[in-house]
Parts: sequence; C-alpha cells; structure tokens
Amino acid sequence: MQNRHEALIQMHEQQLIMKNGKPCIDVIGFARCTGCFGCQAACPIGAIVISLDADGFYKPVINQQTCSECGMCQRRCPVIASQEQLLASAGNWKEPKAYAAWSKDDDVRLSSSSGGFFSELARQVIENEGAVAGCAWGENLTPEHLLAHTMPEVEKMRGSKYAPSRCGNIYQEVIAALSKHEGLLLFSGTPCQVAAMDAALSQEQRTRVLLVEFICHGVPSLSVFHRYIDELFSGDKVESYTFRDKSLGWQTVLAVSSHGKRHHVIASNDTFIKGFSIHHIYMMESCYQCPFAHLPRVADITMGDFWGCPEPLYDKRGVSVVLVNTEKGMKAIEAAKNRGLLELQTVSFAEAVAKNPRAITGDHALPQKRRSFLNGMIAGKSFAALQTAFFPSRSELLWSSFLNDDHKLLFLRNIIFSALRKFRGLFLPVHQ
Ligand SMILES: Cc1cc2nc3c(=O)[nH]c(=O)nc-3n(C[C@H](O)[C@H](O)[C@H](O)COP(=O)(O)OP(=O)(O)OC[C@H]3O[C@@H](n4cnc5c(N)ncnc54)[C@H](O)[C@@H]3O)c2cc1C
Ligand code: SF4
Ligand code: SF4
Ligand code: SF4
Repeated sequence: MQNRHEALIQMHEQQLIMKNGKPCIDVIGFARCTGCFGCQAACPIGAIVISLDADGFYKPVINQQTCSECGMCQRRCPVIASQEQLLASAGNWKEPKAYAAWSKDDDVRLSSSSGGFFSELARQVIENEGAVAGCAWGENLTPEHLLAHTMPEVEKMRGSKYAPSRCGNIYQEVIAALSKHEGLLLFSGTPCQVAAMDAALSQEQRTRVLLVEFICHGVPSLSVFHRYIDELFSGDKVESYTFRDKSLGWQTVLAVSSHGKRHHVIASNDTFIKGFSIHHIYMMESCYQCPFAHLPRVADITMGDFWGCPEPLYDKRGVSVVLVNTEKGMKAIEAAKNRGLLELQTVSFAEAVAKNPRAITGDHALPQKRRSFLNGMIAGKSFAALQTAFFPSRSELLWSSFLNDDHKLLFLRNIIFSALRKFRGLFLPVHQ
C-alpha cells in the first residue's frame, strides 16, 4: 500500500493537474470511473450529465460547449480525491475492530442479505432525529439511492441489489438534510459512493454524517441484468427480486413476476450470479482494480457477509461481519447495541477477513472474454447465447481450479525438481 510520502507526492501531482482545470473524467479516463455521480453533483453550471453507457454502467458526458474548465469536479471525484482522503482519514484505524453482528429481530434478519446489521444501525439513526441514505429498487428493477426519514422507507433499502445504483442528487440531498435534522445522517453504499460522499462534505459536515460502506465484490452491468431477467420471464413484469432469499437457507435467489411465475434457485446455480461473482465477466471496469478496497478504509463502518464465520457464531439466518474504522463508528454501533436489538460479538480482524479478501485488496483478473461478452450484448444477442459462447468451458474451469495458488506452487515445484533431476542425470556416471 502507498505510504504517506508517496501519497503526498501524488497529491502534489494531482494539484498540478487540477490547475489545468479539465473535467475529472478527462483526467482519470472511463476505465477508472466508478459511475458514482460525484462530478455531476459538483459541477456548478450543470455541464455534466451521467447516463447509462452501452455496456450498462453509469458514466459522465461533458458538455464541451458549456464546460468552463474550472476543475471543480476533480475535487469531488473519489478516484482523484481518494489520495487526499487517505491523508484526511489518517485518523481511521489501520486495524479496524471486528465483530460478528446480527439483528435479534428475526423478521429483520431474514429479510436482510446477511445478519441485518444495516437495518439495526439505521433504526438507531432514524429514532434519533436522523435520516438514512441508501439504495432501493426503483422503476423497472433499476437500483437508485434515496433518503429515508422513516423505518418503512429504510426497509426498501434492505437487501443487496447486484447492479449499479443511480445516485442522482443524493449527495446534495444529504447535505441539504443536515440543516433539517438534529441527529446524525447515515450514508450507505459501495466504498466508491461513500468516498464520493466524503469528498462532498466539509470537515464540519463530516462530523455529522456516518459513512457506512459494504465490502464490495464489484458491480455487474445493469443492461446484462435486464437482458437476463427479460429472458427468464419472457418479458413479464417482475414484481420482486431478492438476490438473498432465506426461505431455504442463506443463499437462494427468488424473483416473482406479475403473473406469479417464480425463479427460485440456489445462488450458485443462478446464471447471472455465476457470471458476475464466480467468472467476473461483466463487472464495471474499475471494479477489477478497486482503489477503495484497502486499509485504512474511508468509511466509519464497513459491513459485509461473514463468510468463514467461526462455528459457534455461524447461523444460516445470516451473520454480518462489521469492521469499525473510527471512534464515531464505535459510538454508533454501541448506541445501536444499547437499543437491545443488535447482537455484537468480538472476533479477530484475521477471522473477519479470512474469507472476504475484498476487505483488504481490490484485484480481480480482467477476463479476456469480458469485451466480447459485452459487445455481443450490445449487438442484441440473448443472455443464453452469450453464456454458451463466453462463460468458461468445463475444461477451462477444471484447469483454472487445478491451477489455483496452492496447486500452482506445487505444479511449478514439481516441474523444477523433475528438470533438476534430468539435469543432474546428465552428469552422473552411467553404471552398466
Ligand atoms: C454489488 C454488491 C457487492 C457486494 N459484495 C460483497 C462482498 O464481496 N463481500 C461481502 O462481505 N459483502 C458484499 N456485499 C454486501 C452484503 O451483501 C450485504 O449488503 C452486507 O453484508 C450488509 O448486509 P445487512 O444484512 O447488514 O443489510 P442489508 O439490508 O442486506 O444491506 C443493504 C445495504 O446495502 C446497500 N445496497 C444494496 N444494494 C446496493 C447497490 N447496488 N449499491 C449501493 N448500495 C447498495 C443498501 O443501501 C443498504 O445499505 C455486496 C453488496 C452489493 C450490493
Ligand atoms: S465546468 Fe468545471 S466542474 Fe463543470 S465539468 Fe467543467 S471542469 Fe468540471
Ligand atoms: S468516478 Fe465519479 S466523480 Fe469521477 S468521473 Fe466517474 S462519475 Fe465522475
Ligand atoms: S468494486 Fe470498487 S469501484 Fe467497483 S463498485 Fe465496488 S467500490 Fe466501486
């Protein structure tokens, strides 16, 4: 990880770039853009419009006629600002305090993706004159960020939606809400959205906003998701889509159409999930080398699924892993715990991240077939045809599982040893 000195040099270079006053997307390029909407919110003259690109990710379009090259959007782009944030967030703990957490209310726990930690934290904020920003399903199964003032509104944010969220004006709404609410405001989302919120706040405003991110695998294309469900339901309207239904254990997908057709499968058998979370074929380009997946984290609190949860705490109703990164985060979880509905059990940091590498590193290999898959989708090919053409074949899967890190080392060691043996054999006396 970058040290403080390197970060300072990079920050200095960025300040020089900033003097050029280009829009941030021209500085970072589309491959690193996270589609967070931060620059659209920052532009004082509305020269940026963010819309869905052909691949199904949100990207900015600059109106070159009106852009005055003031460079203000660069200050709010999390990809650029993250270096500044690295310094500003120096107070964030390098080794977070780690917990296993779950809601004691089974309705909450069973309708959440993991243990329902988010809902219990949000409840504490709402009951103390605060408000909560997070992602809910919008029209046509399109995730979007909203600001909730009541618990029924928070309930709409419950559950992971595996597609990019349209953040729209959420950053401005949170800042405006600061003057209307006495209590803390909670902003939740992907680490890049949280970093964009952080970059939009003054130091004083930051003391009143609790930043809550989740450990983020990456986001898949919204257009691929829509193509998949259109085919699955033959164009029927889909009434509900739950990526983590718990009626049959922790991990099934349940979707129901307006005509009552149901898609209910174990997550690892759901083709869309496989392509996203196992084969990594159609994620946003910036997710393959995520600059936010490292310590110290920008958020006050990082939450996730407790994969690898130690046996006495494991429960198929779901367990959240919680990393507390700041004093403010610690006060917030203690207050939520004191309400009586949140269970918190201390675990070691090593246990918390053992099966969840994205808590500390952001690298996934970018599959060669990604571009061909997305081009095929743009050309109108069906999801089923794209799956046949571009998902790894059975032999490729066998080969790559054989060549996982442990096997690879063994494999290389055997090749070297057998080569050495042959080499030595050349010089040994031949006994007849
Ligand atoms: C795209 C994606 C990838 C994820 N990858 C991982 C991972 O690799 N490892 C891991 O441990 N956990 C991951 N999670 C988080 C995990 O699935 C749970 O959301 C988290 O454990 C919180 O669960 P909960 O039970 O406390 O609350 P829940 O009620 O399930 O959490 C809902 C929270 O997620 C937010 N949210 C939901 N969908 C989106 C979205 N599309 N964009 C922005 N915010 C959203 C809501 O605003 C709310 O804050 C991912 C979630 C998403 C959406
Ligand atoms: S006017 Fe300024 S803030 Fe707006 S796009 Fe141009 S450089 Fe960015
Ligand atoms: S990362 Fe966010 S702020 Fe930066 S260019 Fe992309 S949308 Fe704009
Ligand atoms: S993996 Fe990184 S870049 Fe991608 S959505 Fe998550 S936080 Fe943003």
